[in-house]
Amino acid sequence: MDFSISCSNLSKEFNGDGIKTLALNNINAEFKKGEFVSIVGTSGSGKSTLLSLLGTLDAPSKGNILFKGKDIKTLRENQLADFRFENIGFIFQQFHLLPTLTALENVMAPLFSRKVSYNKKQKAEDVLKKVGLKDKLNSLPSQLSGGQQQRVAIARAIIHEPHWLLADEPTGNLDTETGEMIFDLLFSLNKEKGCGVIFVTHDPVLAKKAGRIIEMKDGCILSDKLGTLV
Ligand code: ADP
Ligand code: MG
Repeated sequence: MDFSISCSNLSKEFNGDGIKTLALNNINAEFKKGEFVSIVGTSGSGKSTLLSLLGTLDAPSKGNILFKGKDIKTLRENQLADFRFENIGFIFQQFHLLPTLTALENVMAPLFSRKVSYNKKQKAEDVLKKVGLKDKLNSLPSQLSGGQQQRVAIARAIIHEPHWLLADEPTGNLDTETGEMIFDLLFSLNKEKGCGVIFVTHDPVLAKKAGRIIEMKDGCILSDKLGTLV
C-alpha cells in the first residue's frame, strides 16, 4: 500500500468577526510514505493550519487531500474518525495529556471504545518502554518533566502504529537538549517503524536534520528542499 498524502490547490480561509484570513493559499505538495519532513516559517505563515488539514482535524475551503489516492472529502464524520485513528498520530507543543490520568492511562486513552487485535495495557506498556519511560507508568503528568510528558504524548501517538506522525512544534516548550532528544526519538521511530513524520519547528538546526524542509510564508510554500537526514 502507498500511504502517501497528496494536496492539490489547497486553500483555507478563516472568517471571524467579519475579518477574512487566508491561512493557506493554493498549496500543492506530496508527502511520500515514510518521509521525514520539517516545516518551518514565521508565526502565522500557516504551518499549524496545514498540519490540521493533513491530519483531517479541519477541512479545506478549497482543494483536495488524497491519502493513498483517495479523497478524504468523501468520508463521513464517523469514517473520518476511524480513518484518523488508523492512520494518524498527533503530537502538540502543549503535550495535551489528561492531568488526572497516569502515563499508562493517557497512552491507552485513544483506544477507549476501540476494538483492537492486541492487549491494550500490554501495548501501552511496550510503547512507554520504547520512549524510555518504563519506570513512570503510574506517574501523573504533574509528576513528570516537560520532556517526559512529551514522551508520554509520543507513546500515545504511536500506540496504534499510525502511518503518519504529525508534530506541531513538539520541542517548542522544551530546552534545546531535551528538544534534540525528542527529535532523535521521532527520528528513530521513523527509521524503525517506517512511519512518515511531518514536524513543524522554529528551530533551524532541527529542521535541517530532516530529509526534506518545507518553508512557508503567508500561506504559501516558499521553498521545498532536501535536508541532511542525519
Ligand atoms: P502558524 O502555525 O504558522 O503560526 P497558523 O496556521 O496557526 O500559523 O495561522 C495562519 C493564519 O491563520 C494566521 O493569520 C492565523 O491568525 C489564522 N488563523 C489560524 N487559525 C484560525 C482560526 N481558527 N480562526 C481565525 N484565524 C485563524
Ligand atoms: Mg502554529
